Parts: sequence; structure tokens; C-alpha cells
Amino acid sequence: MSALPDTLDTLVAQIRACRVCVDAPLRRPLPHEPRPVLRVSESARILIASQAPGTRVHLSGMPFTDASGHRLRSWLGVDVETFYDVGRIAIAPMGFCFPGQDAKGADLPPRAECVATWHDRLFAALPAFELVLVIGAPAQNYHLRRLGLERFVPLSLTERVLRWREIFEARAHPRILALPHPSWRNTGWLKRNPWFETELLPVLRAEVAAALQRCLSAPPAGAGSAGAPARSTPAARPRP
Ligand code: SF4
Repeated sequence: MSALPDTLDTLVAQIRACRVCVDAPLRRPLPHEPRPVLRVSESARILIASQAPGTRVHLSGMPFTDASGHRLRSWLGVDVETFYDVGRIAIAPMGFCFPGQDAKGADLPPRAECVATWHDRLFAALPAFELVLVIGAPAQNYHLRRLGLERFVPLSLTERVLRWREIFEARAHPRILALPHPSWRNTGWLKRNPWFETELLPVLRAEVAAALQRCLSAPPAGAGSAGAPARSTPAARPRP
């Protein structure tokens, strides 16, 4: 007998209760209590596919409540209220919990358990997006494969971002924009690659603005939200 597909609410509740990285980890257990951070809804048309929470986000329980968030919102050209409008923008990292840090204080990569357990189910339960912003190598590896653009996976992150227009034009639904992580650690990369600001960011802002506008003008019937409490449009029904 085949399993019934997950409903979004049920699946998000299961993710929020997940303890795989403590109770059945693939490697060293998570050194703290899991705190999955994601914001998804049935109506969002933009997906921010990110990496994993850092220390500040682990404390706040809200994605991008840190310096990376400031930079990302400026890249997107949106204010805080719009950024956290879960009825229009979904945020789903490749690791839902803060993975901890290495001996030098750098954040560890997203936990492999997360994608092995949740991501295929989550993206099967979510509606199609119009615009997918893939931030950092782990998210790009997963979503480029998921969306049939495996040929870009062997490239380095810099090569993918350099070829952003090729990736962007490879699909009409969804459009995909490959971005570096907005972390301060990439400030040097951004300075060395000024085309990112002059060529890519204007396209990013225009695509985000257009998708947000379409969301407002034609919200899907019965749209609801799951995840963190929403600052929502009337289309979204936030749930605690
Ligand atoms: S990182 Fe993912 S798999 Fe691991 S405990 Fe958190 S939600 Fe579960």
C-alpha cells in the first residue's frame, strides 16, 4: 500500500519535533538541542533556499536575523516586513538546525541527516515556486539536481554564480538565481566580483519585485502557512 502524501502542516510539525541529529545521528551528535528553523507556506512563490542557521538564528528561531540577513534583504530590495511575509516568501535551509562550529569558530556545514530525512518530502508537499534563490553550495547542489539542472552541479560556486544568467535562462518555471552566501566572510569575494552588484543584483531585484506583486494580485485560493509565526498578507493564514 503506498503512503499518502504529506500535508504541509503535518510535515512541518514533524520537522519541528525532529531529533534525528541527537537520537540517531549519522556522525557526531548535534552538541545542542535541535531547533529547526524554516518558514514555508502553501502560497509563497519565492523560495530562499539557504544553508543552515548560525548562532544568532539558533537563538532567535527566525531565519536571517543576523548580518547576513541585512545584506540579503538589501540584495533582494525588500524590507524586513516583506522578507518575513511567509505568505509570499518561503525560507528553507538545507540544514534546519544550527550545526555547531569547528575549532576555528566557523559554522559547520548543514547536517547531512536533514536532506536525507526531510527535503524531498518537503518539496513534494510545497507548491511550485516562481523564483528559487539558491544560496551557497549545499543549496545549489540540491536544488539544481531537483530542478533538472544537474549539468551545473560539478561547477564550483564561483563558476555557477559567474554563469548565473545561463542558469537563470535554463528554466522558465521556476526561474533560478544562484547566489553566494551573504555572509561577511564573502565580502572579499563580492569586492573581487563587482559584476555581481552591477549585473546580477538588478535582475534579482526585478524578479523578486515581480513575483511579490503577482502574489499580491493573484493569491492562490486556500493559501495557508506553516512554520514560524507569519507577518502575513491577507492571503496567508498564519498558524502558531
Ligand atoms: S538538522 Fe534536520 S535532521 Fe537534524 S535534528 Fe534538525 S531538523 Fe532534524
